[in-house]
Amino acid sequence: MVPSESCPGCGFVWDDISSEEIPARTASATDAFVDVISSNGANVGVRPSPERWSILEYGSHMRDVFLSIRERIVKASIEDEAIGQPIYRDERVNLGFYKLDEPEETARELTASSKLFVRTFLALPDGDSERRFAYSPISPQKVTILWAAAQALHESEHHLGDVRENLRLLNA
Ligand SMILES: [Zn+2]
Repeated sequence: MVPSESCPGCGFVWDDISSEEIPARTASATDAFVDVISSNGANVGVRPSPERWSILEYGSHMRDVFLSIRERIVKASIEDEAIGQPIYRDERVNLGFYKLDEPEETARELTASSKLFVRTFLALPDGDSERRFAYSPISPQKVTILWAAAQALHESEHHLGDVRENLRLLNA
């Protein structure tokens, strides 16, 4: 994944995103995501197929994405050769770290983590959004803090599409 690419799944183009639009778009995607978790009863815990996450698992992932990117942003703002901590997205699910997550609590945490991410991004010292760092030890490509913030927005919009697709699959 390099900064100029577009997402093959949802068409998101990281370079097209300005820092001004990140807070409102992230809040809007988060609200819609929380709405899906809160209004679909037991369906939120059901995987439409064995290899596809449940709505709740996507919600737990999204909560951790906001927290993870927030930490990357803080680190990149402080260290000159920062390397972001990988999120280990699949391992968190496969090792069972989400098995105690309940819908109501996860929805609240998702809202809180989204707000924490946005507030941290808004509080960045002037000029820091252009600071570069290695997003993770496995991707040598350096990105800017603005790119990482756009990635948080991308994940929230992309996975909102995923959970809506889950609803479509479950109701088919
Ligand atoms: Zn996408």
